[in-house]
Amino acid sequence: MEAITPFHHLNPPFRQNSLTKKSPRNSSTLFSLLRVAETQVSDSLPLLSSSCLNGYHEANSLYSVKLRHAQMVKMAKDKNSDARMQSLVTSYLNSGDFRSAVMVFLVGFEQNYVFWNVFLQDLKSLGGDPFEILEVFCELHNKRVVFDSRILAVILKICATLNNSLLGMEVHACLIKRGLDIYEYSRCALMNFYGKCWGIQYVDQVFDEMPDRGVLLWNEAVLVNFRNERWVEALQSFRDMKFSYVKANSFTLAKVIQACGKLKALDLGKQIHGYVIRFTLDSNVLICNSLTTMYTRNSNLELARAVFDLMENRSISSWNSIISSYTALGSLNDAWKLFYDMETCNMKPDFVTWNCLLSGHFHRGLYREVLVLLQRMQAAGFKPNSSSITTILQAISELSLLNFGKEVHCYVIRYGLDCDVYVGTSLIDMYVKNYNLIYAQAVFHSMKNRHIFAWNSLISGYSFKGQFEDAIKLLNRMENEGIKPDLVTYNSLVSGYSMWGWNEKALSMIHRIKVSGLTPNVVTWTALISGCAQKGNFRDALEFSIQMQKDGIKPNSATMASLLQACAGMSSLQKGKEIHCLGIRNELAEDPFAATALIDMYTKCGSLESAYEVFRRIQDKTLPSWNCMIMGFALYSRGKEAISLFNEMREAGIKPDSITFTALLSACKHSGLIDEGWKYFDSMKVDYNIFPTIEHYSCMVDLLGRAGYLDEAWDFIQTMPIEPDSTVWGALLGSCRVHKNLELAEIAAKNLFKLEPHNPANYVLMMNLYATLNRWEELEDMRELLEVKVGKIGKVWSWIQINHTSHLFSAKGKAHPDEGEIYFELYQLVSEMKNLGYIPDVKCVFQSIDRVEKEKVLLAHTEKLAVMYGLLKTGSSAPIRVIKNTRVCSDCHTFAKYASLMKCRDILLKDGVRFHHFREGKCSCNDFW
Ligand SMILES: [Zn+2]
Ligand SMILES: [Zn+2]
Repeated sequence: MEAITPFHHLNPPFRQNSLTKKSPRNSSTLFSLLRVAETQVSDSLPLLSSSCLNGYHEANSLYSVKLRHAQMVKMAKDKNSDARMQSLVTSYLNSGDFRSAVMVFLVGFEQNYVFWNVFLQDLKSLGGDPFEILEVFCELHNKRVVFDSRILAVILKICATLNNSLLGMEVHACLIKRGLDIYEYSRCALMNFYGKCWGIQYVDQVFDEMPDRGVLLWNEAVLVNFRNERWVEALQSFRDMKFSYVKANSFTLAKVIQACGKLKALDLGKQIHGYVIRFTLDSNVLICNSLTTMYTRNSNLELARAVFDLMENRSISSWNSIISSYTALGSLNDAWKLFYDMETCNMKPDFVTWNCLLSGHFHRGLYREVLVLLQRMQAAGFKPNSSSITTILQAISELSLLNFGKEVHCYVIRYGLDCDVYVGTSLIDMYVKNYNLIYAQAVFHSMKNRHIFAWNSLISGYSFKGQFEDAIKLLNRMENEGIKPDLVTYNSLVSGYSMWGWNEKALSMIHRIKVSGLTPNVVTWTALISGCAQKGNFRDALEFSIQMQKDGIKPNSATMASLLQACAGMSSLQKGKEIHCLGIRNELAEDPFAATALIDMYTKCGSLESAYEVFRRIQDKTLPSWNCMIMGFALYSRGKEAISLFNEMREAGIKPDSITFTALLSACKHSGLIDEGWKYFDSMKVDYNIFPTIEHYSCMVDLLGRAGYLDEAWDFIQTMPIEPDSTVWGALLGSCRVHKNLELAEIAAKNLFKLEPHNPANYVLMMNLYATLNRWEELEDMRELLEVKVGKIGKVWSWIQINHTSHLFSAKGKAHPDEGEIYFELYQLVSEMKNLGYIPDVKCVFQSIDRVEKEKVLLAHTEKLAVMYGLLKTGSSAPIRVIKNTRVCSDCHTFAKYASLMKCRDILLKDGVRFHHFREGKCSCNDFW
C-alpha cells in the first residue's frame, strides 16, 4: 500500500511543536468535550471568521488550543468544520494532551479510515498509547454518548489491532441493537475484528450470515484471509468472488497476486496477470508492483523485469520492488545499475531503496560492504532508520565489531530508535554474539515492549555461555508474563545443555517441549546431536539420531554434518557409511553441505577414494567442498593431486579463500613441494589479496623444516610480521627432531614451554631427540620437567574395529582377552621381519634398561598389538584401520611398513597428528610426521 501523507504535514507549523510533551490532564477537558458531543447533535452555530483560522498557526500552548476549542464549540457546522476539527486534533496531539485529542477525534467530525490511520500513527509517534482511545471510548459510551456507525467501525478496528476481543463483541451487539450492521463497512470491520480476535471460522460465519454481499464485503473476505496468512483460502475466496460476478478492486487484486507469490503458485499468478491485462488494469502501479514481487518470489526475474519495463508510470515503490528483486535473487550489480537508472529518470532513491541494498549486501555475506553502504547512505542525506539499523547490527554481529556496535547503540539512543522492538532485539543479539551478556541484559531490561525474539536471544545467550540458572529464570519469567515460549526458545536450551555435556538436562528439555504442547522438530534434535558432537560425546550423538528417527523426524543436512563429525571423531568408517546411507535415504547425499561433511568424514576415517567419489558427484560444488577435498589430498600427502584440483577449481570460476591456501600449503608440506609452496604463499597476497595468517606461516615453517632447510625456517620465523604461536614453534621442533638439530630444537622448545606448558607432546619430542643423540642426562631432566608441569602422561591407547566390535589396546589398562595369541603371533612376525632387515629402534624407549628389555617394551606398544590383531582377525584383502590417540613412534612406523609388505595388506594408521597409509613397505607420509 502506498503511504498516506499525514494530514498535519499540510500544516507544518504545528509539527514544530511536537516536542512540547505531555501536560497534565484534567477533568474539565472531558466536560468541554461532552459539550462538543451535544452540539454536534444540535448543530446550529454562527460562522467562524477567517482571522480566527489564521490564528491556528500561531497557537501552540495547550491553553490557546483549548481557547480555540471553546470558540469552535460556539460555531456552526459548515464545509470547513471538518478541517478545523482535524487541525484541533493535531494541536491537542502536539501539545501532548492525548486524551482531549482522542475525545475530539471520536465525537468531533465524520471520520474515515484515512483519518483514523493518520490519527493512530500520529498518536503513537508522539508517545501516546492507543489503549487510551478505547478507554476514552468506554468512558463516553458509559456517559451515553451516541456514536455513529463509522466511529463504531473505527473502534472495532482498534479492538482488532489491540486484541480487545470483549469490547469488540460489545460494539457488535451495539451495532445489531441499533440496526447499524446493515452497512457494508460495518460488516467489513466486523469480519476484520473476528479474523484477528476470534479466529477465522467466525469470519466465515459473519460472511455467510450476510444476505446481500456487495463488492466491499467480497473484497474484505479475500483480505481477511490474506491478513491471517491463509493464502490458499484467500485465492479460494477470490475464485468464489469471480463466480458471483463481483469485480475485485485493484487493492484486492494486488493482494491476490501477492498470495500467488507467497504460495509460489506461478501458473495461477500468470492467469491473474492475464485477468489484469483483460480488464486493462495493467496501468495500475499497485498491481504492477505486486506482479513484480510475485514473479520474484517465484524466482522468475525475467518476467519481473518485463513487468517493470512495460510500466508507463513507475512509482518509487516500483523501483524499490525491482531493486529488491535483484538484491534477493539476481546480482547486486543489476541492482546498482537500476539504482543509477533511477537518477536518470529523476527518481530519488528513498529509505526503502537504501534498506533494500543494505539487506541485499547482508544476505550475500558482504558484511563489510554493508558498513561502507551505511556511510554512503548517510552521505546521501539519509539518517539510518530502524530497518537500516537492524541490518547494520546484524552485519556487526557477523564481523564481531563490538566497539562499532556500541557506537551504533549510542546512535540508536540519540535518535530514539531504542523503542523499536526490532532494533532492541538486534542490539541484544549483537551483544550476545559478541559475548557481552551484561550489555545484552541491560538492553533487554530497558525495553518496554519485548518481542519474543528478544527473550529468545537473551535465553540463547545465557545457555550458550552455560549460565543455565539465568536462562531458566528468564524462561519462567517469560511464561509468567504471558509470553508462550516457542520452539526457538526451547531449542536454544537443548543446544546449550548438550554443548556443555548435560545430555540428561537436554533430554528433559525435549520432554518439556512435548509437555508444552509443541513437537520437537529437526532443529531440536540437531541441536542436541550437534552439541554432543562438538563436546566429543560422539556415541551419544549417534544414539540420539536413532531416537530422533524413532520420533519420526527426518534428518536435514545440518543433522547429517553433525553425525558425520561424530563418525570422523571416532574414526569409525563403519558408522560413517551407515550415516551416508541415511543421507541417501533422505536425499541428502548430494546436498553440498552434507556432501562436504561426507568428504571430511571419509578422509578422516581413512578412505580417500570414497571421499573423492562423493566429491565428484556433487553437482554444484561449493568453495567449502573444494577446500575439503584439497585438504583431503593434503592429509594423504598427495600434493600433486591437491594442486591439480586447485587448478580445476580456478577453471570452474571459484575464487579461493584463505582456507584454500591453508589446504594447498599443507599439501605442499606433506609432499615436500618447496617451490610450489613458495609460489602459492606469494601468490595468495599478490593475485588474490589474501593476507597470510598464522596457519599459513606455520605451514611454511613446517615445509622448510621438513625438507631440512632449518636455517631458512629460522630466518622465516624471524621475519614474520605476526608473533609466532605454538603451531609455528611446534613445526620447527618437529623438523629439528627429524634432522637432529639440537640447537634450534632447544630454542623452539623454550618458546613452546612458555606458550603451552601443559602439552606433553613437546616434552616427549625433546626426550625423543635427546635419546637419539644419546644425551641421557638431559633426557632425565626433561622427564622430571614433564612430571612437574604435566604430571603423568595420560592414557595411551589404540583401537581397531572388527565386525562391529571395537577392540581397545591400552598401555596401562586391562589386558585384551586374546593377548596371549596376539603376542605369540607378534613374536613370530617380528623375527621374520628381522630376517628381512628390520632393526627395532630402541631409541624410542626412554628407560635405562638393556637392549633385550627395550625390545620387549617396544613389542608392547599398543598400535603394534592393534595391527597384529587386525592381521589375525580380518579377511585376507581388507585394509586394516587402526586409530591411536598419540603420535606413532618411529619403531612402530617401521614395523607397519614391513607388515604391509610381508602380509600384502594396506594398513591405515591414524595417530594424534596425521594419517599414515602403509602399502608395499612404504608410508604415504614419506617418513615425515
Ligand atoms: Zn610405537
Ligand atoms: Zn607414516
